[in-house]
Amino acid sequence: MQVSNTDTASQGRLLRLAEEPYLSIEGEGIHIGKPMTFIRLAECNLRCKWCDTKFSWSKGVEWSHKAILDRVKKLSCVNISVTGGEPLLQAAELQILLDQLVSRITYLNTSGTVWSAPVFDKVDWINCDLKMPSSQMKSDLTVVHRLAETYPEKLQFKIVVSPEDIPHLLKTVKEIPLSIPITIQPEYNSYGAEGAVDLSEWVKTHLQNHINIRVLPQLHRLIWPSRDRGV
Ligand code: SF4
Repeated sequence: MQVSNTDTASQGRLLRLAEEPYLSIEGEGIHIGKPMTFIRLAECNLRCKWCDTKFSWSKGVEWSHKAILDRVKKLSCVNISVTGGEPLLQAAELQILLDQLVSRITYLNTSGTVWSAPVFDKVDWINCDLKMPSSQMKSDLTVVHRLAETYPEKLQFKIVVSPEDIPHLLKTVKEIPLSIPITIQPEYNSYGAEGAVDLSEWVKTHLQNHINIRVLPQLHRLIWPSRDRGV
């Protein structure tokens, strides 16, 4: 396993990060539980009501590509999650960083509001959050449907759900091809730690024949309930 940090393409390049890259455990979706290095890019084009990383809305701190790659190398994890904020707001610089991440498995977390084929092409997995009414934000359905058509083999959808979202949930799930994994996640503050029980009952009743649906709590909120950084 090797990280290339000598490529001239990365020289002088800067990305704005919301926090120092860190090693943790994936807390959501079909890759839940995997050890992963997180690179959290600053700024977001949305303002989800229940956002648990509001600190990422800031301009962040500039990091050179070399400094990021050195940190990634030091953390020595094969899985690299690029998250935010909305990472695709820095798509041009992100593309160049992804080219330097040699022999790593890369995961992009995005809200389904920005299209960037060069980044989508380079990552191994696309984790797309679908926004429900409780977030008070909307995913761009044009982007969401185009992702499902273009990258079905490496795409998953995650949906954070509050009780008020239930009327919208069935319609949203049924618009997604069955082959694409969907994880329904109870919003921690509105459901509490026991929320997966209520949602599980709902899924057993309404989606019992869906071959690719999961109900999972947000693992990082259970393990580190009082921390918003470095998890
Ligand atoms: S898209 Fe993510 S980072 Fe942005 S406001 Fe929503 S939850 Fe927070």
